[in-house]
Amino acid sequence: MNEHLKEEKLIGIVKLLTLLFAVVVLAELQAATPKVYGQREHIPKIKVRLKKDLRKVLLSGTDLKRKFHIGNDVKHFRGRKSIKFNCSGVSKKKTFKKPILLASLRSPTGLIAFEKEKYTGDIHIVTSPKPGKCDVVQETTMEKYISGLLAKEMNAVWPTEALKAQAVAARTYALQKIKTGATKKKAGYETYFDLESSEKHQVGGSFFDTNQNTDKATWSTKGEILVTGDKQMMTPIFFHATCGGHTLRPDHVWQNKVAGYEGVPCKGCVKREDKKYHQKVDLLRFRKFLSWSIDKGFIEKKATLYLERKMRVVPHKLYGRTIRIYLGDYLVKIKKSTFRRYFGRVLFPSNNFRISFNSNKVRVYGRGLGHGVGLCQLGALDMARKGWSYKKILAHYFPKHKLKKIY
Ligand SMILES: [Zn+2]
Repeated sequence: MNEHLKEEKLIGIVKLLTLLFAVVVLAELQAATPKVYGQREHIPKIKVRLKKDLRKVLLSGTDLKRKFHIGNDVKHFRGRKSIKFNCSGVSKKKTFKKPILLASLRSPTGLIAFEKEKYTGDIHIVTSPKPGKCDVVQETTMEKYISGLLAKEMNAVWPTEALKAQAVAARTYALQKIKTGATKKKAGYETYFDLESSEKHQVGGSFFDTNQNTDKATWSTKGEILVTGDKQMMTPIFFHATCGGHTLRPDHVWQNKVAGYEGVPCKGCVKREDKKYHQKVDLLRFRKFLSWSIDKGFIEKKATLYLERKMRVVPHKLYGRTIRIYLGDYLVKIKKSTFRRYFGRVLFPSNNFRISFNSNKVRVYGRGLGHGVGLCQLGALDMARKGWSYKKILAHYFPKHKLKKIY
């Protein structure tokens, strides 16, 4: 009898434990469902301007659905079809302050071809601010956009951890622009796109730029961005090709301060001999640069009186932010980024350089390629090859930022 009772009790406990286990598993499954199957998640969409100011647009694809927004005229084309849009007929005189959505194209079974590239998502044709011209805008999901971008901004065959770091940086850059409407504000008019696919913003890719590696880097960091401060603010996240040995803060290069940034050493770039440069600038041209700096207010007006005096440069470091020059006995201080702005990216590929005066020439010795702010792509490649994770890479270049998953 006692044995029987014991057995029943045991069975009862086992049943209870099984039930508890089932409840826990069910709860975990429910919690995991949106993440695993993507039923409830919301992946943001992004509108990327592929080309601007076109007179004609030629698009092709299979089973296309074409919609003219004016008149709500929808047409389906079976099989392969090329569609030509003539933009010069839109309005020859009128300029559009606010873009008008003219047509949209979708291919439910495939891709849309535009200028030798193939794209996923919707392709929109909108009026350009210039009369008789239009812009082509691709609307796709954030993660598809990021995967294509990785091949263009980095290289699809680079180690996944480097690509993941780039994916987080580029995603934050894009989402920050969308959230703040930065593109519209800068353009000074309403735009139908969030970002441009160009070096001005970030260079996006097309369908055939993506591969397993770029997809893996994108989807394994899905929804992850960088935030800073107690309020977990989203700030613009910058990146560049190679820093030359030390990264810079945004205010070192541009006028504006951005919260959370710090300049950090980058070992991988110090070792790179291929990213060194040596340039010469004519003294006459250099004096013109000084006059321009006075006109623009980068140097105080009083310096005009000393422009023809003998010039002497105060010894400075490769990674210092400013250069001090004596014009006679008058000292002027100039930000390195001001040189780059005036002489251009060919003479000054980076903001890490030294200058010296030598007879009638100014000699420039530098390292790196790009503005040097934020994530250094070649530095990240070096770290990933050494086995660093993308989290460690991001923590190095953005020591005050934190990783946050927002979808
Ligand atoms: Zn670097």
